[in-house]
Amino acid sequence: MLVQRGREVGEMEAELKEMLDDLESLGRSLPDPSRNASIDKLRSRVKHLSELAKFAPVHRSKVKDMSAEVVDSNPYSRLMALQRMGIVENYERIREYSVAIVGIGGVGSVAAEMLTRCGVGRLLLYDYDKVELANMNRLFFRPEQVGMTKTDAAVQTLSDINPDVVLESYTLNITTVQGFETFISSLKNKSFRPDKEGSGVDLVLSCVDNYEARMVVNQACNELNQTWMESGVSEDAVSGHIQLLIPGETACFACAPPLVVASGVDERTLKREGVCAASLPTTMGVIAGLLVQNTLKFLLKFGHVSPYLGYNSLKDYFPTMEMRPNPQCANAACLERQATNLTGLCL
Ligand SMILES: [Zn+2]
Repeated sequence: MLVQRGREVGEMEAELKEMLDDLESLGRSLPDPSRNASIDKLRSRVKHLSELAKFAPVHRSKVKDMSAEVVDSNPYSRLMALQRMGIVENYERIREYSVAIVGIGGVGSVAAEMLTRCGVGRLLLYDYDKVELANMNRLFFRPEQVGMTKTDAAVQTLSDINPDVVLESYTLNITTVQGFETFISSLKNKSFRPDKEGSGVDLVLSCVDNYEARMVVNQACNELNQTWMESGVSEDAVSGHIQLLIPGETACFACAPPLVVASGVDERTLKREGVCAASLPTTMGVIAGLLVQNTLKFLLKFGHVSPYLGYNSLKDYFPTMEMRPNPQCANAACLERQATNLTGLCL
């Protein structure tokens, strides 16, 4: 049985049933029938509570192996069908992968939900912000989560959707010295898959809304030789982009600032004090979808992984391009990676 009611809900239902039985026998044992009216009133209140208990959340238990069996109770049948269709060679490998998502806002939260529903092995979530009513024009967060940290609210929702995914929540600001140190050490941690080469994660997704945080992710990934993907939505909410960054092989975020300018999102994507950026669930959803599609292609090795894909919703224009690293890049770690990469090619 995959779906089960929580233990607490079961106990509550049993308790309410016992109360009804007790009231029943109490009514029968009373010598004075004039007291029956108040017992009937109590009985109807307990019945009402029993009805409410039926709406309590339902949780599914963990699934040991991903099955391709086509039954309504299998949460992975439609994903495993990708193998049967010849799109993916081995879908179940997704359970070995760890993805870090920096920024759990309009794009990051939706990307996290998509990866959770796809059954990714482990998600590391980073954000320092809290859920606000002003976030409700976007997807994912719900009004009752207002005041919770975005990371805690995300873990609450995602663990209900798919308890198979290992979720790690980091409520911190990566642009602070201490936040950066924790960020780096969490990316290095290999306890999930000790035999993995390189860092402890397979991909970092940057879903932040400002230049400074992007430069910090860029710095961490260059230092760790970590492949990552960058995403962004313009301040006027009508365009966005995703970009693949492989240290030493493609342009890093510091190599080519004009790339951002070329997509028409330049510094308008930067969060400025006192300026209220516009946002649409549609554009954010499209960018999250493009980002996670590229992530699945990268992890499961199918199709073409886009090095850069822009989205202009006013013209329905999707520009693509490829950028080599800049030998004059201001980022020292990027230059080191470029040198290592060249050495690798000479061997
Ligand atoms: Zn660079």
